[in-house]
Amino acid sequence: MVFSADVSLHQIVSALLDELDFKAVFGLRKRGAGKAFYSLFTDSSQLKDFDPFFPVMPQNAAKAISHFTFHEFSPYKVAVVLRPCEMRALIELVKLEQAKLDNILFVGLECGGVFPFEIIYSKGEADKLYSDYMDALKRGSNFDGIRDVCKGCDLFWPENVDIVVSCIGREKPSIIFCTEKGVDIARSLNLNISEADERTEASLKLEQERLNYKEKMISDIKERLAGVDGLLAVFGRCIGCHNCSHVCPLCYCKDCFFESSTFDYEAESYVRRVQKRGTIRVPMDTLLFHLGRMTHMATSCVSCGMCSDVCPVGIPVSVVFKAVGSDLQALFDYVPGRDLGEPLPLTTFRYDELHEVEDM
Ligand code: SF4
Ligand code: SF4
Ligand code: SF4
Repeated sequence: MVFSADVSLHQIVSALLDELDFKAVFGLRKRGAGKAFYSLFTDSSQLKDFDPFFPVMPQNAAKAISHFTFHEFSPYKVAVVLRPCEMRALIELVKLEQAKLDNILFVGLECGGVFPFEIIYSKGEADKLYSDYMDALKRGSNFDGIRDVCKGCDLFWPENVDIVVSCIGREKPSIIFCTEKGVDIARSLNLNISEADERTEASLKLEQERLNYKEKMISDIKERLAGVDGLLAVFGRCIGCHNCSHVCPLCYCKDCFFESSTFDYEAESYVRRVQKRGTIRVPMDTLLFHLGRMTHMATSCVSCGMCSDVCPVGIPVSVVFKAVGSDLQALFDYVPGRDLGEPLPLTTFRYDELHEVEDM
């Protein structure tokens, strides 16, 4: 059973700082047209810039939360407002022992998706785009121009959070208290709560629309990726900058093998390769980097889209990872971020799986 109250998100986070013992609120801070970044707010007077709905993901919030809870859990109570794929990534990072959830109240947005940086940061009319986007959420439709993986994201309802802010198919966002911790907060703030429905019809309809988009997106990219020629066609323009791994919340290695001295080839090594093949592509090993990254983390990829957003040559990295990740995750019946108690598939031996590989 879940409960709601006639209160805004701003009122809630403000009251957490002013009336309860919360020391900070983590969420999006909007500065000027089209610009926003994650911030810790410690004083309710700063919350005039708090704008969690602003449709941009400057970084996957899980990565930011991992920075401040990597070594020890937060000594103070903090409320965190984030999107569903960020929460899922955070749960994966907890399993990887790179983040902690203690002392954090989680507030999740029912997510209409975010825009690629190039759209939100370069368009002069970012505020108009934002208000049109919010109108589309009320109608429950995918807004043109959001990230491709968002258009195909069916997991946009926040799970594993204490409070949900539901806005799809609603005239104004509804605050839903869905865990004991969330309901305790509502009671501590003396809010008048009543039993609530979780999702609107429009939200369920959008889920189906996105599932259809996802299937088409995955089948299109698989067609493009077929065989080595397909892989080379998709990743051929990669310049090896590794932006995609630097922003990925689930690229968990602190020292990346592909940035280690193993790949600092001596001149002699280049010459040997040229003699063998006639010519070599520089930088080398770009495809190996992507295949290596996939084998490390595709079972945990939450399809957040950060990697595509930062690729300077427009490679649809997140769509590729979504396609590969979906197959791998289905193989292990694993949904990244679904359940904190569910072990990571590649770190767990299960006698009853993959017997077909033994027979190959
Ligand atoms: S992938 Fe996009 S739509 Fe899905 S939760 Fe993340 S930001 Fe929202
Ligand atoms: S691979 Fe890309 S889409 Fe997947 S979690 Fe990492 S940044 Fe997000
Ligand atoms: S961000 Fe793009 S160019 Fe850079 S390594 Fe990743 S795929 Fe290659």
